[in-house]
Amino acid sequence: MTYMDNNSRRLYGRALSVLAGGVNSSVRAEPSPYPFFVEKGDGGHIVDADGNKYLDYVMGYGPLLLGHDMPENVASAVQSETAKGPMYGAPTEVEVKLAEFVADHVDSVETLRFVNSGTEATVSAVRLARGITGRDKIVVMQGGYHGAQDSTLVEGNADTPEPSTKGVPASFARETLPVPFNDDEAVERVFEEHGEEIACVLVEPLIGNNAFIRPVEGYHRTLRRLCDENGALLVFDEVITGFRVGGLGCAQSTINVEPDLTAFGKIVGGGFPVGAVGGPSHLVEGFTPTGDVFQAGTFSGHPVTMAAGLETLRYAKDKNVYDHVNQLGDELRAGMTDVLEDYAPEYTVTGTDSVFKTVFTRETPEDLEDACDAGCEQNQDCPRYGVCPKDAGDVADAETERWKRLYWTEMLEEGVFLTPNQFEPQFVGYAHDEEDVEETLEAYERVVSSL
Ligand code: PMP
Repeated sequence: MTYMDNNSRRLYGRALSVLAGGVNSSVRAEPSPYPFFVEKGDGGHIVDADGNKYLDYVMGYGPLLLGHDMPENVASAVQSETAKGPMYGAPTEVEVKLAEFVADHVDSVETLRFVNSGTEATVSAVRLARGITGRDKIVVMQGGYHGAQDSTLVEGNADTPEPSTKGVPASFARETLPVPFNDDEAVERVFEEHGEEIACVLVEPLIGNNAFIRPVEGYHRTLRRLCDENGALLVFDEVITGFRVGGLGCAQSTINVEPDLTAFGKIVGGGFPVGAVGGPSHLVEGFTPTGDVFQAGTFSGHPVTMAAGLETLRYAKDKNVYDHVNQLGDELRAGMTDVLEDYAPEYTVTGTDSVFKTVFTRETPEDLEDACDAGCEQNQDCPRYGVCPKDAGDVADAETERWKRLYWTEMLEEGVFLTPNQFEPQFVGYAHDEEDVEETLEAYERVVSSL
């Protein structure tokens, strides 16, 4: 075989000539030596351009709650919307129906504005919070990801925030105050110093793109209180967690803290480009035309996306999709925890519901008895509590190279496609089944035992 017999290799060669870095989203270039190109999805699997089939836990980086095959109701709604005409630039009924569905199921949401990506949702939510409060600064979590937006591509700490990429003005970064997740004192200090300048805290209920770290008990209550005391808004980024964790009530329903605004994305568009900002009417109506905060989009509320999102969520409700995916998620996390106990007790399984990840942490607690048995719950009685990751810094300190170069590569050789770094989470879809879980755990044991 010559190199050119490999279709992915050939496509990547062509892509490098016409697409920046050969891809349209940076993370897709991470797999080494080059990404496989996808021919098609197949239930819980993905098939590459050379006919190789992988068990897929990337699930499009989260939007594919159901897997790759659209159930009949989703497929026919998508086809019928497409057949009527792709889009109009005037409102349609299906936008109203999806908004009604979300407002009916997410307690904090009364009114929405749909946009086209998670990035657009967080950009719009931050602009709305700034417009409503008349303040400029925002608090974010170190290592949190809110999309490719200038206000949040910021690193460092609240005293020395700096752009995390070229192209973001240092003056923008100075309006952003990054704090470590799960650290009450750090965020209290920031509010003491800047309380009257802070428009919002923008935070995920769980740190989604950093190994899916859960909050420690009471952390979001602290954020809620600080926002209330200082006249700031609490904005939840539920782009990953929305309709994934906590079922149709989203992750906010599991921590009993109500945000002022929520940014949605991914699953709410049923696999098509989407984002949304939701909250009580008196806040969300701050957007134009009712309010003074400009917001608009040619493709926003796209009828095909709206139909796919609505039918996906209806299907999830009717078929008890969350019971199935969460059960498999539990089995995966529990099975992985068992494997680690035998071969790598220093590593930590994270995730919840249908999300899972292994963090290659470096320290083994003295005693593993009564440890969290299906993914780290930030349980203070767990013997791992002192060594399990609490914030992005802890994940960055893990064995990230071993994860990426050995574990990821060898899992792929086993036929299991995971997100290609230590940080991004992995997802179970409705198309996965018990057999897939078994196969995954067998592969996991073979790979982890040889690391
Ligand atoms: N917020 C979070 C929490 C995300 O995980 C992402 C994407 N992974 C975004 C925002 C940005 O969404 P999008 O890629 O659709 O712009």
